[in-house]
Amino acid sequence: MSLTASRERLLATTDHLIRPDQNLNDRQQSWIHPRLIQSVDPIKGRQLRVSQPIRKGELLLVDLPYALIPVVDCPEQSEDIRCSNPACHRRVARTVERVSCPNRCSADVVWCNPSCRDADNIRHQFECTWLKKYATSIRSKWGEYDFGMLWLIVRILANRHVEFRNTPSSDKTGSVSSNLGSFETGWNAIRSFCGSQETWAHSQVRHWTMLVKKYLGSSDSLPHGMSSSDVLDLICQEEANSFGLYPRETGAFPLPELAVDRGEQFGAGVYPTAALANHSCSPNIIHKPDNQSRMVFVASKDIATGEECCISYFDLTKKVELKDRRDHLQGSFRFVCKCDRCVSEEPPEEEVQWEEFPSMEDF
Ligand SMILES: [Zn+2]
Ligand SMILES: [Zn+2]
Ligand SMILES: [Zn+2]
Repeated sequence: MSLTASRERLLATTDHLIRPDQNLNDRQQSWIHPRLIQSVDPIKGRQLRVSQPIRKGELLLVDLPYALIPVVDCPEQSEDIRCSNPACHRRVARTVERVSCPNRCSADVVWCNPSCRDADNIRHQFECTWLKKYATSIRSKWGEYDFGMLWLIVRILANRHVEFRNTPSSDKTGSVSSNLGSFETGWNAIRSFCGSQETWAHSQVRHWTMLVKKYLGSSDSLPHGMSSSDVLDLICQEEANSFGLYPRETGAFPLPELAVDRGEQFGAGVYPTAALANHSCSPNIIHKPDNQSRMVFVASKDIATGEECCISYFDLTKKVELKDRRDHLQGSFRFVCKCDRCVSEEPPEEEVQWEEFPSMEDF
């Protein structure tokens, strides 16, 4: 790695940017920069903007996941698995004494220590029976992707269950973050995610409908009380808004001379505020989970007043050509990318068509 590349990477590393004076030790709250605002674009829908200029390198968002699952090949060996307790979500190294579920529901469920496990008891009880009953069979029948998707939905429902127990019923709607009244939090934020059944291909929706019917109906072992169609809507939203968690940052652009990819995925999660960010193939935000699995946004360029804040939804080092990028975004996120970079790289087809029009001299 060249010196320039390592300096670029140092700048893009997010953990050191969280200063102690930003008071982020309270795990119950996300932190949103006072200049980061939410607005609605008639075409793109909800988006993040800045109300005043932001300098390159400034921290813009530290967002707690609403739900998170590990995505690792071999949980017993993995160094990247995270604590199941949402108030912790720290990396649980193999060398420390991990705690598993006494019910042996899944090898992917671990905690840092007995107190992390005990504090997470109510939430885990919600998923434990379901995991024990279905984890192995879903994995062998439908594969890791569908299992991960279903488990993430179960964890969202488990957090909702805990949230509703803790919140007086009059407070269930309209709760807002302390920083900015325009940002919704908790279950309300998840329910306002973009994505619906119309977003996705019919064959995809049919497949999810079948999975919901088979594995996610409300029952004694999964007492969420929602209708099948509401759970299906939740899948459509989760699939359009969830983040993959990778050890290194996503979105450095222009690509450094010796670009480093973002590494192997170790988790997937839903983030109430981070999910508002739209995509650009030349983003002005770099994102990366910190060591407590919070999603951290840092400005990678100076951002002018009113400018939209965009992240990249994929690893820019892996898809460089216009066609690769657009095919990927169309397939995974259901839109044709019209970002500045994509538009500037479009082949000039229209010009040829214009030349075929009769000129004035022909009349
Ligand atoms: Zn823990
Ligand atoms: Zn369990
Ligand atoms: Zn693009």
